[in-house]
Amino acid sequence: MMNYVLGLCCIKCGKELQAEPGIYTCPECGPQDGILDVVYDYQNIKIRHSRQQLSQSGDYSIFRYIPFLPLNPETPRPNLRFGWTPLYRPPGLAKVLGFTNLYVKDDGQNPTASLKDRASAIAVIRAVEEKMTTIACSSTGNAASSLAGAAAAMGLTTFIFVPGRVPQGKVAQLLIFGANVISVQGSYSDAFRLSAEAIDRWGWYNRNAAINPYLVEGKKTVAMEIAEQLNWEVPDWVAVSVGDGCTIAGVWKGFKDLYRVGWIDKLPKLLGVQSSGCSPLVDSFLENRHWRPAEENTIADSIAVGVPRNPEKALRAVRESGGTMVAVSDEDILDAMRLLGRTSGIFGEPAGVTGLAGLRYLGSNGVIKSDEKIVAIVTGNGLKDVKNAIAAAGEPIRVDPSLQCLVEELKWRGIE
Ligand SMILES: *Cc1c(COP(=O)(O)O)cnc(C)c1O
Ligand SMILES: [Zn+2]
Repeated sequence: MMNYVLGLCCIKCGKELQAEPGIYTCPECGPQDGILDVVYDYQNIKIRHSRQQLSQSGDYSIFRYIPFLPLNPETPRPNLRFGWTPLYRPPGLAKVLGFTNLYVKDDGQNPTASLKDRASAIAVIRAVEEKMTTIACSSTGNAASSLAGAAAAMGLTTFIFVPGRVPQGKVAQLLIFGANVISVQGSYSDAFRLSAEAIDRWGWYNRNAAINPYLVEGKKTVAMEIAEQLNWEVPDWVAVSVGDGCTIAGVWKGFKDLYRVGWIDKLPKLLGVQSSGCSPLVDSFLENRHWRPAEENTIADSIAVGVPRNPEKALRAVRESGGTMVAVSDEDILDAMRLLGRTSGIFGEPAGVTGLAGLRYLGSNGVIKSDEKIVAIVTGNGLKDVKNAIAAAGEPIRVDPSLQCLVEELKWRGIE
């Protein structure tokens, strides 16, 4: 047996398709709406695998969940450690937020420092399985840097389309990983469209997350890890930031897959958070209407997605879970960055801490109770975007090299 994939199912019309190379969307519903879900032979996974068996595994990466991945176990893999990021319980943060049962999943500790690595690992392995040597994607930054890193480890060529506004840290990653970087002078939507045209033109492997149904399968491993790290006692809430919507959809798929094989006995509520400067999915959710394109007006560049590519999967996930969505201001996001850093030593990029900012808000207005079990996923590391980190935290104390100056400066600031 190659793997447990039975086929693909269209989330719009429910049509079942064979999992074949080059099939990314439902032909009936089209590439906009016909997003596909990977369906597994859960019956046989259940028979052949167990939580006990998993607990013996020495593989501390996303590949410990290989029965749930759309991969041939024999295909070579990039030699990087994807996933198995720490789940912390930071007491200082819990105290400030008034939650007694709060966890932080630090996905900034992936090889290229974001949750996107989970998806890019799958992308490069699938590309090799499909005998492709060149992969392309468009990205707000992290999908790009993670693809470039994973592809470098696999010996593949990449073409990466990013909007001009991408923070320098991410561009540096791309260039260091040897990608062909196309900086599109326009919005993310422009970059996405140009990449789609180029992929058509040259026939490259398509890593655009919403279109490629296999990538959510990599992202779902974050949920599987959370469940296992909590000893299969599922949290009440999982909070995560939302851009295209693939991440939150992946989190939901992960918990649902575990539920289907009976490894967990309940599902969490999802909290999807966007910046109020770019909140098409939150607005759609709260106003109960179809989403509309929005401005991309936020410092949280990774979730500045005015035209989300996976809106239906994301909205469905939140609804099915009985959770909710909320938008927070850029100020709240910078506050969350500072708070997380100061109380727990974890450094998130703006989009990385947006989920936490949303939790804080819903905790303060009573939607989330103080004793509920909560996991905030930090989706990306703060070193990717130093400019906003300084904006959040302020400048250092500048002194001339003399003890006298230091004494006076500290006194003046009331630190000493
Ligand atoms: C991509 C990204 C997100 C959001 O994921 P979507 O699939 O676009 O919703 C959140 N945080 C970070 C750091 C990201 O890179
Ligand atoms: Zn369809």
